[in-house]
Amino acid sequence: VSVAPASLEQELRARFGDELVLRGVPPLYLSDATEARGLHGNADAVVLPRTAEEVADVVAWCYEHGAPLTPRGGGTGFAGGAVPLEGVVLGLERLKAVRSLDPELWRMEVEAGVTTLDVRRRARESGLLFPPDPGAAEQSQIGGNVATNAGGPHAFKYGVTGDWVTGIEAVVAPGELVQVGGAIRKDVAGYDLASLLVGSEGTLGVITSVWLRLTPAPEAVAPVVSLHDGTMSGCEALASVLGSGLPVAALEYLDPETVRRAADAFPVPLERGGFMVLVDVDGSTEEVARLRAEVHEAVSEGSLFLWAPESAAEIAALWRWRDGVSIAVQVERGGKVSEDIVVPFDRLGEAIEETLAIGARHDLPACSWGHAGDGNLHSTFLVDPGEPAQVARAEAASEELFDLAARLGGSVSGEHGLGLVKGGQLRRQWAPAALALHDAIKAAFDPAGLLNPGKKR
Ligand SMILES: Cc1cc2nc3c(=O)[nH]c(=O)nc-3n(C[C@H](O)[C@H](O)[C@H](O)COP(=O)(O)OP(=O)(O)OC[C@H]3O[C@@H](n4cnc5c(N)ncnc54)[C@H](O)[C@@H]3O)c2cc1C
Repeated sequence: VSVAPASLEQELRARFGDELVLRGVPPLYLSDATEARGLHGNADAVVLPRTAEEVADVVAWCYEHGAPLTPRGGGTGFAGGAVPLEGVVLGLERLKAVRSLDPELWRMEVEAGVTTLDVRRRARESGLLFPPDPGAAEQSQIGGNVATNAGGPHAFKYGVTGDWVTGIEAVVAPGELVQVGGAIRKDVAGYDLASLLVGSEGTLGVITSVWLRLTPAPEAVAPVVSLHDGTMSGCEALASVLGSGLPVAALEYLDPETVRRAADAFPVPLERGGFMVLVDVDGSTEEVARLRAEVHEAVSEGSLFLWAPESAAEIAALWRWRDGVSIAVQVERGGKVSEDIVVPFDRLGEAIEETLAIGARHDLPACSWGHAGDGNLHSTFLVDPGEPAQVARAEAASEELFDLAARLGGSVSGEHGLGLVKGGQLRRQWAPAALALHDAIKAAFDPAGLLNPGKKR
């Protein structure tokens, strides 16, 4: 670094002024959702540009002065990707413009700092749907969603964030604003650089704006919830929905340990516990009525409880509850270490039971829930973040989880990315030649290694 860390803030202020450079580093900019496992970073300055051009100027300055920089969206990531290790935090929160919204053309262009909820709301107000629905929509930003290729319950039918991105404007080293793709729906002219930026966790470039494709909003939606007496019978119900060939929109599960911890806030009284299956269907009113009845039939065999809310208020309450599960389970100890492993659908039951067994081996309460249709678990160990011994045991337990995912032919991450917390884990699932390409791509985009150093390795 050609600028001493201690004078970084001062030098940045001399160049960009008080408007862009914060005084001191507020603790908020040093953590993300991994705070629940006690993770805090270090930084020397926080810069909040207002335009894409200002982002380019800041990146150019950092590149010229050898200063590492960590792009930051809403700070809701679960992999510590936005937790800085040193240098400059570059927050995208002021890039809030909806640059264009063309309902008749099913598309919009939004700046990186627009929240996920706002993107979905703006689409909805025009009769359209932006389907990706990660859980922290009020706080997470579209730039962060693209940078982590976020999923969510409805990714089962609609795919993940990247499937809805047709173009990206980003600042790449050494500080150039580039556009790949745009308001077009097809593009095979070059290597798919936009897809490389999707899920790159701030290590290849800083996303300033994205073009999103939209789809007409379905006329009706109808969730169906069922409870089953154990993991294996619950997984049979999931397999029965999948095997029935019904084009359901979401296929979720919550294991009995999760249901027990989150039951109090369920929108209607839960008469009993068990393994929960949550299926959502959407489409025209007639189609939804038919699908709902068929889903009912597919899950009802051996089920202990069935609930199919019909009013908009009840349906909204159900999804609010589902979004809050991650926070609800953490109340018991104040924190959690939660990993988003993926396994083939037919190994889901095994992975759910093994999560509990791993927790027991490390003397930690465990539970899991997740996107069953995508084989994506949120395997969770409850910890008190103020007890380093518990956090260390949970990290050892996570190593066993990653082993399990690799052994079952899965992935160490389906949604949250490698970030800081899964450093080195890619080795479990990729051959050396593939890892070498991964490193070569990083070096091509960021030869000085200044973009989010220490992450996605
Ligand atoms: C309650 C809760 C529920 C969640 N549910 C889901 C879910 O259902 N599905 C799912 O996939 N995820 C989920 N997540 C995690 C998910 O990764 C984030 O919610 C979201 O996608 C991250 O967006 P963010 O703006 O908060 O990014 P941040 O946490 O700020 O950053 C995440 C990563 O992206 C990089 N980054 C951010 N913005 C940019 C940018 N403009 N340019 C380049 N890099 C950037 C950062 O450097 C970092 O590496 C959940 C999180 C919480 C707290």
